[in-house]
Formats: sequence, C-alpha cells, structure tokens
Amino acid sequence: MTALEELTSVSRDITNPYVDEWKRRGKMAVGFFCSYVPEEVLYAGDILPYRVRPTGCQPPTHLADTCLSHLNCTFVRSCLQFAYEGKYRFLDGFVFADTCDHIRRLHDVMRATGPFPFIRLIGVPHKSGEEAVSYYAGEIARFKSEVEQYFGVEITEARLREAIALYNETRLLLGQLYQLRRGQSPPLTGAEALNVIIAATSMPREQYNGLLSRLLGQLRGSQGTGKCRARLMISGGGGCDDDSPFRVMEDLGGLIVTDTLCFGSRYFMQPPAGGDDLIMGLARSYLNRPSCARMSDKVSERAQFTKRLIREAGVDGVVYQRMQYCDLWGGQLLHLRKVLKEGNIPLLDIEREYHWGAVGQVRTRTQAFLEMIEERRNGR
Ligand code: SF4
Ligand code: SF4
Repeated sequence: MTALEELTSVSRDITNPYVDEWKRRGKMAVGFFCSYVPEEVLYAGDILPYRVRPTGCQPPTHLADTCLSHLNCTFVRSCLQFAYEGKYRFLDGFVFADTCDHIRRLHDVMRATGPFPFIRLIGVPHKSGEEAVSYYAGEIARFKSEVEQYFGVEITEARLREAIALYNETRLLLGQLYQLRRGQSPPLTGAEALNVIIAATSMPREQYNGLLSRLLGQLRGSQGTGKCRARLMISGGGGCDDDSPFRVMEDLGGLIVTDTLCFGSRYFMQPPAGGDDLIMGLARSYLNRPSCARMSDKVSERAQFTKRLIREAGVDGVVYQRMQYCDLWGGQLLHLRKVLKEGNIPLLDIEREYHWGAVGQVRTRTQAFLEMIEERRNGR
C-alpha cells in the first residue's frame, strides 16, 4: 500500500487498524469534538486523542432526536446517534470545547444521559489577547490535572514537551503538503488532501508523521495534473469530513487547491507551541491559529487569511459549505461575501446536512459554478 492509500484507509471509517492496535495494547483513547482542544495534553499522558466524527451516519437520527432538537445541526445529532448506538465504544472518554451552542448542548446531553466515561468541557475564549491566553492556559492546566487524576497518568513536563514537538512536526509536514498543492500541477487532489488531514486526527502521531513524511517523499517525485476547469478553495465550518462531495467537484473538472477548513489549513497553520511555559505556549499557539468563526475579534484576520490563501494558491472560485442551523458559519458567510466581492472572486454557497444529502445537488451546482468561472475567463 502507498502512504496515501494507507492514510486514506484510516479516514474511511470510524475506527482503523492503528486504533485497534492501540487499544489491544491496553492503552486509552479519548474523543474530542473541536480542533481547539489541545491534543498534546492527552498524547503526553499516553492517551490517543481521536477527533469524533460520525462517518457514515445517515438519517434518521431517531435516538439522538429524543434529546436534541431538529434545530440542532446534523453533525451533533449524528454524533449523538452514533454514541447511543455504541459506535464510540473504543473511546474511554470525550472532551468538548465550548465552541458553539450545539456542541455545548451535545455535551450536556451526553453528560446527563450516559453511561459515558470521562466527559469534560474546556472553556475556549472567543478572543485571543493576552488575558484570553491566560484564561485558556488555566483551562488547559485544569484539564491536564483532570486527565491525570481520572486516568491515573502523570503528564510530566518532559512528556508534554515531547508531545508538543511531535505535533509541531506534523504542522511543519502538513505545511509542506499544502505548499505542493499550491503549485501549478498539484500532485494530489483536494479529496486526497482531506483524507490525509482526517487521518492525522485518527491515529497515533509517531506513525502518522512517518506516513506523512513517506507521502511527501513520494509526492515530490510525482507529476500532478495542472489541467482543470478551475482552481477551487473550500471554505466554511466543521463536520466537513467526507470526501465524496470533493470527489464530485473534482470529477467535474474543479481542482481543490486549498481550503480554510478545520479539517484542513485551520488544523495545522498555527505558530509552533513550546517555550519555557508549555501550557501558556499551547494556549497562545491554539488561540493564534487561523481562526474559526467562533472567534469574535478575528473577523478581519479571517478575511486576510482567506485572501492570502486565494492569492498564494491561484484560486478561481470559492465553495463555501455550511451546515443547516449553524449560526456561526451562517454569520461568517456575510463577511466572506463582502471580501470575495471586493476581490472579484466567485462564490458558491452550499447549505447542507452532515451527510451532504444527495450529492446530485453538489454536482448540478458545481457544474453551473464551473461554467460561470469559464465564461468569466473567456470574457463572455
Ligand atoms: S468549525 Fe470551529 S467550532 Fe466547529 S469544530 Fe471547527 S474549529 Fe471547532
Ligand atoms: S457545524 Fe456549526 S453548529 Fe454544528 S457543531 Fe460545528 S460550529 Fe456548531
């Protein structure tokens, strides 16, 4: 199997041979729901951080819907459905960040209706100044103590430093991968890149970094195809962990060359953590990553980030995907529209359910979008 095939197979299902092996060795795994959760803390305790995704969940989510409203986004409803179905049995706990009201409600329901083991919530500030960094550092320190106490592990400074170094290495390698994607002839598609990132959140880090390095070696020597109808950016909110709509867009001749997703650039493009005070360093690094729409003081930073990626990757059009009832990313769309209009960049807005529904809608709308980009290019 090539490194890409191996990483893709990890992203395809809820669990994978790496997680199975980890559990067979009697080790613990904890699910997390948002990329603002500092995975390094868990990994330093020899606990596998696993980003919870309800891969393959299809409606109806009848078990979840007894506790969650139909006005909750279908990502959280699908997660709860799978939790009640026992799909996350391999996880020894769950950690939430108070990233949005829907996730917050999921936390409340799971805590109230268990039996689920260890459930914790980390307060993540909505701003990123020094006061916010101190607050978040306090939350991380509290979480670290809770992990130590509950799982009976000791997270020493040396272990934490090691974990931070491993995660910094991942970010460096993923940066190199995205650099290759920006070129004239990217050696991997957007669908493939998505699977590579999903795998990062679903397997032990040393093995992931090894596979990723191997993949980079293979890609550097390979010739991609520069031929496409339009170079695309995918933007928008969470729950974007299914490559099938990406494949539909790319089968039609779009080529996804970059993104602003938290299963994408926002997962790794952050300043490296480290320094003398490791917890403060982690807080500062996470709060200074390219921001999610939940960060209220970063509207113009998000605009700058999007514009920079569009410029660097030579993007012809942006596909914005957001979940129905997701107020955060619904609001962000208003800002993005303005930014793209100023830059004369076409935008395709797709409101969807977690499972994307019929990809037929994606096909029809992408086809029209690509035609529109081509007509603009040809001056018609
Ligand atoms: S979109 Fe934002 S709030 Fe949702 S999981 Fe990603 S980082 Fe967290
Ligand atoms: S998709 Fe939106 S509403 Fe749903 S969990 Fe993510 S941020 Fe919250």
